[in-house]
Formats: sequence, C-alpha cells, structure tokens
Amino acid sequence: MKQNIKENLECVREKIRDAEKKSGRKEGSVTLCAVSKFHPVESILEALNEGQTLFGENRVQEAFQKFSSLKSFSKTHPVLHIIGSLQLNKVKKACEISSCIQSVDRDELLLEIEKQAAKLEKTIDVFFEVKTGEETKSGYISDAPLFSSLEGLAKGSYPHIKAKGLMTMAPFTENEALIHSSFSRLRLLKEKINKEFPSLGITELSMGMSGDYLIAIEEGSTLVRVGTAIFGERSTS
Ligand SMILES: *Cc1c(COP(=O)(O)O)cnc(C)c1O
Repeated sequence: MKQNIKENLECVREKIRDAEKKSGRKEGSVTLCAVSKFHPVESILEALNEGQTLFGENRVQEAFQKFSSLKSFSKTHPVLHIIGSLQLNKVKKACEISSCIQSVDRDELLLEIEKQAAKLEKTIDVFFEVKTGEETKSGYISDAPLFSSLEGLAKGSYPHIKAKGLMTMAPFTENEALIHSSFSRLRLLKEKINKEFPSLGITELSMGMSGDYLIAIEEGSTLVRVGTAIFGERSTS
C-alpha cells in the first residue's frame, strides 16, 4: 500500500491548527514531531521535502543508521529526538545523533547523558517521561524520584543538560475520559514543578500520538509525536 505522506502531513497539520484554535491556543503553539520508527529513509526524505524537520525515533541503532545515510541525500537538516526507553550503553550514540532525549525516566540516565554530552561539548535537551496511565511501562511512577532528578538539575549538577519538559503516553483505550485525565495529570505536574523549581523554566508538554493528539492539544500539549497518521502502519518485524 502506497502511503501518501504529503497528504497525510497536510491533514495532520490542519487538524493541529484546528485543535489549537478550538482550545483557544495560539496558532503554532503545538510542534509536530514526526515519528519515523520502522519506516525507511525514503519516507523520512519525503516528509523532509514537505518541510517536516523534527523527527522522533525510539531505537538508537535504527535511528543512527537511517539518519546518517540521510545526510548525503538532503540539504535540509533533520532534527532528531529520541523518544524510546534508553539503555545506559546506548546513551553515547543517542547524544551523538540527537538534540533531545524525551524518555528520561531515571537518575542514572541523567548522569550518563551528562557524561557523554560533556565529552561531545554539547548540550542535550531532555524531557522527563512520566507514567500517567495504567498500561504504559516506562516513565517515573511517583513524584519523589522525579523531583530528586529535578533538584539535581536545579542545583547545577548537569551543566550539559537542559530540562525542557515532560513526556507521557496515555493508555491505549477508547475511554476518552481516561486519556484526558492522563494528559491533565501531566499538565498539573508541570505546574507543580514550575512552582518548586522556577529556575528550570520547564515549558514543554510532549503528549499526544496518532490516536489521541487532538485530546492532548485540548489538554495543553506543546509537542505531539505522530507516527502512523503520517507514515502509515508500521510492520514491526
Ligand atoms: C511510536 C511512538 C509514537 C507514535 O505513535 P503513533 O501511534 O504511530 O502515532 C509516539 N510516542 C512514542 C513514545 C512512540 O514510541
């Protein structure tokens, strides 16, 4: 089946604009991250040619292979975010190929990102992944360890890391009330963090995927991670 990435992108962008308007949000306040995991380089190129510059991948090795080969094809530079749970031994490569790791879910990951980013003499943006629903496996489960990570950042222990925001996945359910409550939990948590650690200036809420990004925008998402609605179904093999 041929996916029409150009049309899909236009459609998603229009829906984002409508949702911004409907929720009284400023136009352009929601950033679209195109999740290209399991999709080939050609698909990424097609999206790049349509002006999509931000991409998300959840496996470091796959992302490394695809995005290094892109360099020879494309004049526009894609920006890559790592959005999948990360093992310590993958952090070095993740820091080399991406500008942002959205899936920080434990303190030891921060330590390793700091170490590798320092070696590369670059600053890595991070999002803290929070478990807000029943089914999802990854993310900080309670406030205490998250706040301890944030305290370290606020104290300046990680000079090569910039905390940008929070990330979550809503439960996969038809029950929209559950999805709303998952996203609103993340929004409230961000407010709490900004009260406690105003110096961090956390601004971003990464929430919303193909099935629920319109709900996420209603709940204040600033960054939606959309894969299937742009690139089509993934064959996960
Ligand atoms: C795969 C993935 C997405 C995109 O999911 P779709 O339903 O295809 O839009 C978003 N966020 C994360 C963390 C993912 O792993």
